[in-house]
Formats: sequence, C-alpha cells, structure tokens
Amino acid sequence: MRVILASNNKHKLDEIKKILTPLGYDVVSQSEAGCNIDVEETGTTFEENAVLKAQAVYNFTKTAVISDDSGLEVDYLNGAPGVYSHRYAGENATDAERCAKLLSELSGVDERERTARFVCVICFINENGEKTVIRGTCEGYIGTEPRGENGFGYDPVFMYGDRSFAEISSDEKNSVSHRSDALRKFSETIKNMKG
Ligand code: IMP
Repeated sequence: MRVILASNNKHKLDEIKKILTPLGYDVVSQSEAGCNIDVEETGTTFEENAVLKAQAVYNFTKTAVISDDSGLEVDYLNGAPGVYSHRYAGENATDAERCAKLLSELSGVDERERTARFVCVICFINENGEKTVIRGTCEGYIGTEPRGENGFGYDPVFMYGDRSFAEISSDEKNSVSHRSDALRKFSETIKNMKG
C-alpha cells in the first residue's frame, strides 16, 4: 500500500521506511508526493500535532497518509522539551545546539534523576479518511556529554543502557525506539482492522 509520510524529515523517512517496507508499505515523503504544504504545529500534545499534520496532507491528497510527531520528555524538567523538542534551542538551532542546551539544563543533576523517554505519536489516515492515532515510547536517561555519530536530534545524549542512541546501529535503534514501538502497534491495529 502506498502511504505518504506527512513530513520531509529525511531521518524520520528513513526510519519509517525501514520499519514499514518489510510490512508491505511503500512510504513516500510529502515532497515526493507533490504536496508542498507547511503545517504549523500549534497543538499542545504530540497527538494534536500528529493529527494536524496528517489531516492537512490528507485534505490535499485524499490518499493514505501517516504522520509522526515526536520528542523527548525529561522527568527532571517536568516533561520538557516535550512537544517543543524541535524548537527547544530556537527555531533554526542545530541538533548539537539542542543537545547542548539540554545538557546545560541538567548540569550537576545526578544520574538517577536524569530519566527520560522518547515519545512518538503516529497518526494514520486511510484513503477513506478514517483516522488511527497511536503512541510509542522508549525509556532511557540523559547522559552527561554527547556520544556517537549515528541517528539525529537528541540521539547523542539519550542513553539506552550504557550506550547512547547515536552509538547503536540504525537496525538496533529501529528495533527498540519510540518510533518502532508506535509503528509496531500501528501495524497490529491495521492487521486486526483487516480481520
Ligand atoms: P517534530 O516531530 O517534527 O516536531 O520534531 C521532533 C523533534 O524531536 C526532532 O526535531 C528531534 O529533535 C526530536 N526527535 C524526535 N525523534 C527523535 C529520535 O528518534 N532521535 C532523536 N531526536 C528525536
């Protein structure tokens, strides 16, 4: 089944493709589908933003769409940066600047208090406009310095066991990440809907 990802984020596209292609989905980016709209993320929850993005692309294309709204929740910061993960260090900041800001907010905080989770909310809208919203998570903690070269975003500071998400391979990340958790639940839900 062809499904448009309501995003042009190459990292998200690569990860989602790797997980959904073996399940029979042909995932294309928004721009590959000729849909050049920019959706303002005005929601206050991952769910609201995921629905906003998917609905805007569905209204434009009227074909199956999937969106991903994701971010990092840090317990010591009462869930920040959360839905503001992308804008945490300013609209045009780099991944390295976002990681540096987070590390400075947690400066001196004990390892036991650095617990965090990645959250990914998927919104799928089928060709008839029916919507499915699913949340996936991955628990870990924030390290004290950036480590590793793989992945994107906050991966170098997100510790999964004794390695950061940027130190593990993409296959390993894709088997345990918040995105794979949401996509696995999504594929189960779709299978059950098909009966
Ligand atoms: P949005 O979903 O486009 O609002 O952006 C989510 C932001 O959360 C990204 O820009 C990253 O900074 C961060 N993020 C989401 N998923 C991941 C991930 O798998 N690894 C690292 N950072 C992530």
